[in-house]
Amino acid sequence: DLLISQIAAGEVVERPASVLKELLENSLDAGSKAIQVHLEEGGVKLIRITDDGCGIAKDQLALALTRHATSKIVSLDDLERVSSLGFRGEALASVASVARLSISSRERGASHAWKLKAETGAEPEPAALMAGTIVEMRDLYYNTPARRKFLKAEGTEFAHCADAVKRLALTRPDVAFSLTHNGRNLFQLAPADSPRRIADILGDDFLGAARRLEAAAGPLAIAGFAIDPTRATDAKDGQYVFVNGRFVRDKVIAHALREAYRDVLHGSRQPAVCLFINIDPALVDVNVHPAKTEVRFRDSRAMHQFVFHAIQRTLAAPVQ
Ligand code: ADP
Ligand code: MG
Repeated sequence: DLLISQIAAGEVVERPASVLKELLENSLDAGSKAIQVHLEEGGVKLIRITDDGCGIAKDQLALALTRHATSKIVSLDDLERVSSLGFRGEALASVASVARLSISSRERGASHAWKLKAETGAEPEPAALMAGTIVEMRDLYYNTPARRKFLKAEGTEFAHCADAVKRLALTRPDVAFSLTHNGRNLFQLAPADSPRRIADILGDDFLGAARRLEAAAGPLAIAGFAIDPTRATDAKDGQYVFVNGRFVRDKVIAHALREAYRDVLHGSRQPAVCLFINIDPALVDVNVHPAKTEVRFRDSRAMHQFVFHAIQRTLAAPVQ
């Protein structure tokens, strides 16, 4: 069973950043308003998430670590309209099979917190915690050395971790995030409105050189910022595209962006954008891969045209 878990974990736990993403999504699903992330050695040695969410009851702690145990979906019908970020109930079980995992949590209203160390198999112990949850992952792949060999340099793994925090922070400007690596504080994001949060993460340069965009047609809506090539300074490149609140890397959308910028942006650069696309959940499959950066649209032509025209119209509009 441990072996099966470890094989399945390969799907979810590709690298420290994928663990971090799952843990952050859990904190957001728990309704947290402030999330602190502490990493050591690119997240390989330590990932610690402290949140102020709803917490986990003592008798649910062990269950949370069980494969396919999720508190978020009760029936198959729910899968169709899942609004939480997690729903497979496999992240914690997978992480626990390839790293040392412990959870301390205090459910709202409980008199104190409980801590469960996954690898000992022991009962939860009383712990001191004001509210919320601390999930601590240590020594990723300590028991699967073959996997450890695929980890990249500390700086690379850290950069992926920082990306994971940034992506989620862009979707939830109402939530405070902080990131510390090897004792050094990298950023501290206060709750903000969306443009402010985008500037916090992509830089004031990007926001200053970007055009605001907003469009809707049928089941599709788009909002966000797209770089104006005529105003582009040395704004960072980078494409942040979210579909129904999830960061995605999608060929159809990427192609629509390239086409829309083709005559105005020269060179091989990817146009910098931060776009939030919403689509009727029945018209998109987010279930393609556990890592969930891929999606499949029922009508990818419609998506392509919608994004293409929204960007083109925005770039062609006279400067306000
Ligand atoms: P999923 O998110 O798909 O439900 P996970 O393995 O990620 O599965 O988490 C299992 C369960 O543990 C969740 O359904 C949730 O009930 C609980 N849980 C995990 N992390 C937290 C957290 N930070 N705060 C509250 N509950 C949590
Ligand atoms: Mg989860």
